[in-house]
Amino acid sequence: MTLALYDTMAREKRPFAPQDPERVTMYVCGPTVYNYAHIGNFRPVVVFDLLFRVLRELYGEDAVVYAANVTDVDDKINKKAADEGVPINVITDRYLEAYNADAAALGALRPTFQPRVTETMDAIVGMIGRLVENGAAYAAEGHVLFSTESFPDYGKLSGRPLEDLIAGARVDVAPYKKDPRDFVLWKPSKPGEPEWESPWGPGRPGWHIECSAMIEDALGLPIDIHGGGIDLVFPHHENELAQGVCAGHSHEYARYWLHNGFLNMAEEKMSKSVGNVALAHDLLKTYPGEALRWALLSGHYRQPLEWTDTLIEQAKSALDRLYRTLDDSLREAGGEFDEPAVAPEVARALHDDLNTPSAMAALFQLSDELRAAIGKKDKGAAARARARLVGSANLMGFLTKDPQAWFQAGADDDLKTRVEALIAARQTARAEKNWPEADRIRAELAALNVEVMDGPSGATWRIKEQA
Ligand code: AMP
Ligand code: ZN
Repeated sequence: MTLALYDTMAREKRPFAPQDPERVTMYVCGPTVYNYAHIGNFRPVVVFDLLFRVLRELYGEDAVVYAANVTDVDDKINKKAADEGVPINVITDRYLEAYNADAAALGALRPTFQPRVTETMDAIVGMIGRLVENGAAYAAEGHVLFSTESFPDYGKLSGRPLEDLIAGARVDVAPYKKDPRDFVLWKPSKPGEPEWESPWGPGRPGWHIECSAMIEDALGLPIDIHGGGIDLVFPHHENELAQGVCAGHSHEYARYWLHNGFLNMAEEKMSKSVGNVALAHDLLKTYPGEALRWALLSGHYRQPLEWTDTLIEQAKSALDRLYRTLDDSLREAGGEFDEPAVAPEVARALHDDLNTPSAMAALFQLSDELRAAIGKKDKGAAARARARLVGSANLMGFLTKDPQAWFQAGADDDLKTRVEALIAARQTARAEKNWPEADRIRAELAALNVEVMDGPSGATWRIKEQA
């Protein structure tokens, strides 16, 4: 089965063929860690996590090498550190930890590597040195600039005409630039700010060179897949590509460029500068991570997606439906288990440029098949259908919880204790054949929106489906 991916450079869907099927490489631009990340920042995390999972399924777990970087040198980090009177690593460590915890709660596997700028400084300085040697960069007034003139294909990824590139760059044209399109590879730090040694004087790297050097250092160039949000195509990825090629990697830098669309709120890109943000950290206090993941994947990754309460509620009830089928299958069709397997219709949808809406529709189909098998009390058919549903959902990062735990997650500890006590009291009443008391307790549980299901191994309970 062929995986087809939409390549921003080719402007079309292309069959995916890695350079080496035994070592498939992917890099995704990660966060600047100075604050909690908003849910829009997690759209690429979840989208590329899904691609990582699909690649692992196709090529084998150990054959896929995925690096997602962390930007830990930045003005906003410097400002936050100065405000708190602490070194920058106190800020970056704190928010990187929060970021990784949020990503894990959203079901994202840890990337193979998580390179940090501060830990890649030698490679960054080395790559700038090579660009200077190759005549693709020049030093001027403590800065080192990339000479866009040296790269005839400049603008090819974003497809912007030359005049646009010049007009865009003119906004902050500095006197030491030979061409307004030239961009910074190295610059002096402001007094009191962190700086690193270099042959061009102490300072810090520009943002674009950091990624090129981290890719070369962590994965080696060229890579198979380079990902990020659509806002990064220009100038960030255009510049990364120019640097990578001119630093000695022929014409190949990334063989496939993938970009996710924006997550919007109030019809505008979710962004800290606009202020229309919902932090994953806050959302996770109210909603299960799997529901937020479902919401993020409910639209095709290249399309814009509007983030609303309704979207999250729909995601939650979609998962409730699947977990309910799973729960019923365990209770009513018995404990026969088949090895989970990905259903062909789900694989087909995901292999078609990660068509998640179609894959989700296929999950519902599988859930209906399982329900039909339970209805017929056909244990063998139920075990097979369950294996397909669970295998397919797991590939996408869903149905990873025990159904009981899923349904009871909505209950706080007080409610849980109260429900357990009521269930125990009901058992006693029943054992004593005190039917009025047993009925009264059942009514009390119903008033708490709790459904009790009596099974061979005792009673279990779950929060009732919302009307
Ligand atoms: P930043 O911290 O803004 O550099 O963003 C980190 C990653 O999140 C990049 O890949 C961005 O393209 C992506 N990103 C930021 N905001 C959004 C958004 N509202 N929707 C989708 N992706 C976003
Ligand atoms: Zn980058």
